[in-house]
Amino acid sequence: MVGSDIGIDLGTANVLVYIKGKGVVLREPSVVAFDRDTNKIKAIGEDARLMLGRTPGNIVAVRPLRQGVISDYTVTEKMLRYFIQKSCGKSRFRKPRISVCVPSGVTEVEKKAVEDATYEAGAREVAIIEEPIAAAIGAGIDISKPCGNMIVDIGGGTADIAVISLGGTVVSTSIKVAGDNFDDAIVRYMRKTHNLLIGERTAEEIKIKIGSAYQRPEVVTMDVRGRNLVTGLPKTITVTSDETLEALKEITSQIVEAVHSVLEKTPPELAADVSDRGIVLTGGGSLLYGLEELIEEKTGITTMTAEEPMTAVAVGTGKFVEFLAGKRDDD
Ligand code: ADP
Ligand code: MG
Repeated sequence: MVGSDIGIDLGTANVLVYIKGKGVVLREPSVVAFDRDTNKIKAIGEDARLMLGRTPGNIVAVRPLRQGVISDYTVTEKMLRYFIQKSCGKSRFRKPRISVCVPSGVTEVEKKAVEDATYEAGAREVAIIEEPIAAAIGAGIDISKPCGNMIVDIGGGTADIAVISLGGTVVSTSIKVAGDNFDDAIVRYMRKTHNLLIGERTAEEIKIKIGSAYQRPEVVTMDVRGRNLVTGLPKTITVTSDETLEALKEITSQIVEAVHSVLEKTPPELAADVSDRGIVLTGGGSLLYGLEELIEEKTGITTMTAEEPMTAVAVGTGKFVEFLAGKRDDD
């Protein structure tokens, strides 16, 4: 579609590009690999992710947006430009309007950098938008009403919790505790409890397959390979979902506490709306088994995960341009 609206979710773990009329056309990890000697970029996205932890000395693979802060600004700029070109192609009739959702915690200077990079990549208009607003629109919430809604977006590096009303954020917080921390906690648990050293990717696999934030009705297990820290040799052990519950307890309760603190600061009328309408979860981290149940149990408020939690922010970001223009569009 020529001159169409584009929304980009510049996440700490994944970048997604949404094009109006086409949907999400690109989803790649926010990873860049470059040569330390020449400072040249070797790979971006999925290709670069495969290099994480496996690169020879002179090549380094980094996540420039780790923990919701742009640690490397030029790299982010190049990554953004690459993804825009990859999803839109170069020869365009009319330049698109692009809105970009940046992780909360990003500074004004960094926001400006993202804006400039987006213009340079060929946008005719650029809007930088707040994550909770994008997540809410993407989750199908009508944000234009004077009614409180609570959104909890759990990404890779940050969890963003906000109560929004009338298109704006009323109360919010962002904590640097999210999906990546679940993985770290599993690595630590395996070391402490089983003397087993596992990599981050194995930890993520455990989290996705059997990880639990709440007791499962039936225990599930998984065989995990790692290095025995005593003998130094490879070893396989069977891990249960109950063990992950134990491993993740501290991290999940930090998220619950943050939700609680936002509820405490929410004006009473809006808090009443939230308890009527429930809490909505988005982001890849919200796919952890039992998070809904845990938050619901601890707050007493109905909690549900958005239908497409991984793409909600990208879709919402794309639709925000229309919201800004004051148009209504339900596609
Ligand atoms: P960001 O917005 O920060 O880029 P995402 O919303 O893409 O992050 O979420 C990435 C996080 O979601 C990662 O930590 C990943 O391990 C986690 N994740 C993805 N799928 C699942 C799943 N099925 N269960 C638990 N965590 C998941
Ligand atoms: Mg995100």
